[in-house]
Amino acid sequence: MIVCKFGGSSVDGAAGIERVAGILRARLAARPVVVVSAMAKTTRRLLDSAEAAAAGNLAAALAGCEELCAFHRREGEAAVPTASRPPLAAALERSFDELRTLLVRLAREHRLEPRDADAVAAFGEVLASEILALALPGFGVAAAWIDARRVMVTDGAFTRALPLYEETGNRLRAALLPLVERGAVPVVGGYIGATRDGVVTTLGKEGSDFSAAIVGAALGAAEIQIWTDVDGILTADPRLVPGARRVSTLSFAESLELACSGAKKPHPGTLGPASKAGVPIRILNSLDEGAVGTLIGRRGAPTAAPAVKSLACRPNDHLLHVAAGPAAGERFAAQIMEAVERLRPALLVLRLDGDSADLALDRADRLAEAREALAAGGEVGVLHGRAVVSLVSEDLAGDNGLAARVLAAAAEYQPRLVVAGAAAPAVRCLVELEDMPSAVAALHRRLFDEPEEPAGEGPPGEGPPGNAAAP
Ligand code: ADP
Ligand code: MG
Repeated sequence: MIVCKFGGSSVDGAAGIERVAGILRARLAARPVVVVSAMAKTTRRLLDSAEAAAAGNLAAALAGCEELCAFHRREGEAAVPTASRPPLAAALERSFDELRTLLVRLAREHRLEPRDADAVAAFGEVLASEILALALPGFGVAAAWIDARRVMVTDGAFTRALPLYEETGNRLRAALLPLVERGAVPVVGGYIGATRDGVVTTLGKEGSDFSAAIVGAALGAAEIQIWTDVDGILTADPRLVPGARRVSTLSFAESLELACSGAKKPHPGTLGPASKAGVPIRILNSLDEGAVGTLIGRRGAPTAAPAVKSLACRPNDHLLHVAAGPAAGERFAAQIMEAVERLRPALLVLRLDGDSADLALDRADRLAEAREALAAGGEVGVLHGRAVVSLVSEDLAGDNGLAARVLAAAAEYQPRLVVAGAAAPAVRCLVELEDMPSAVAALHRRLFDEPEEPAGEGPPGEGPPGNAAAP
């Protein structure tokens, strides 16, 4: 069994759905289970409508709702076989009726509680999964829709809910395994779930990757495949570094570190369930089906040429400096780490010693919470408008030469601070926000594009260092 997760960029319309069907048809022997995100930009549009309604602009909210309805009807009708048009129409009517009712209530109440934001946002995945399940048989793939709200059981932390693993695992196995047994592909919406009482929740931004990992771990899948619009995990965000290259393998720890350091793929929550269950994750390009992508798994044998694997950055970080109070003493470090644990992955330790610490926070909306948590350790000062660039590799711990090389390269660009990540496989540079693009470009060039210095490690002329694959 494999889990195939398709992001919004892979199911952007009927053409995307047909491509997805082709990918699945070629993998039926591996018994795929599908986790799918909302189509294209649907989640953002749903939330825009909810916000408009809560701001009192019901007309705009309903207009947005009608646009989404027309989009899903048009793409859905183009994707499903003619015989499935009546169930498609019924599915659309059910969701959009509920959505309209919700928007009217939000306009009346004049506020948007996290609970209602989740209820609205969830329609994107409900619709995409229903449409995909109806479309697949037309392309020769037997399929069945599974309502994620019945199988993904979560706590009640709206907009960032966490699964109740045992119950979710039981429900997933009971609902999905019989379908797989009889040769059908179960299609589940990612990102969404519901509490034990059936109140709809979401797992937070990019939560569909997380859903895929939860499903893969519960079913003991052979692989969790995350199909997206890039060739895999790249050496940097391609929007910042157009020449970024595919990384062929990453350990779970490296991938987690990258995710927490600002790389969008995959969602940091994804790594926990996958690594605990020992299920590897592969990041693949749905526009280039034959390519191998990036494999994330248990750490392999150390490579002959230790190298930085990838670079990630977090713009808009707030820098928090904590000076240990006189009473802090030996508990200081523990107090800082408690705060980090509580605000993971928004709060990152840059530097920590006996009497002070520097941390970065990338969520303005959690600044008060972070300050309060850190105040247990000492006096907290805050600076805004910083960015943290992280260079990630587990080789950093085992190879002093690599660490020295990376620290030296980083120091060349005169960041405010360069540190070997506290208890993390990373070297981090703190820079002013406006310097981030140039620092990223320069570091990428230095660490991924220039030939290694003749440091006596590995045979010369091997091309790019480490396992960054050729473009
Ligand atoms: P999906 O719709 O499949 O979930 P996303 O847009 O959420 O896709 O995530 C894929 C995008 O993540 C890529 O198009 C790329 O722009 C961005 N990205 C940022 N950092 C990286 C990285 N290090 N490697 C690959 N992609 C990255
Ligand atoms: Mg995404």
